[in-house]
Amino acid sequence: MSERPRCRLCKSASTQRIVIDDKVAAKTYIRCDDCGFIGVSPRCFPSKNEEKARYLLHSNNEESRGYREYLERFIDQALSPYLEPGSSVLDFGSGPTEQPLLRYLMEARGNSCSIYDPFFAPGRAWRGR
Ligand SMILES: [Zn+2]
Repeated sequence: MSERPRCRLCKSASTQRIVIDDKVAAKTYIRCDDCGFIGVSPRCFPSKNEEKARYLLHSNNEESRGYREYLERFIDQALSPYLEPGSSVLDFGSGPTEQPLLRYLMEARGNSCSIYDPFFAPGRAWRGR
């Protein structure tokens, strides 16, 4: 019998494995009995090459109408209510472009936006901000 994985959020050892087979692929999730966090088992994470290849399929520039609508809703509902005017934000996982759409939209609203992406924008200039 394998050891129970620890919760990635609270480090509790009181977790349960849940396997969901959606006919495309079976994935194992870990549910924490203490904090309620549910996350994909690290065993099911894609490799770094698979992850980068998937991100390269993204189209996250200003011509991407559906993505733009999604981001505008996200900004309006999840960011703007909590930001002071002129705040600086970090787009963590900014994707395969030098001008990510989130940065463009945030700057258009008077905010500054730093970007970071382990594959495409690995610089750390945002750390001092
Ligand atoms: Zn937990």
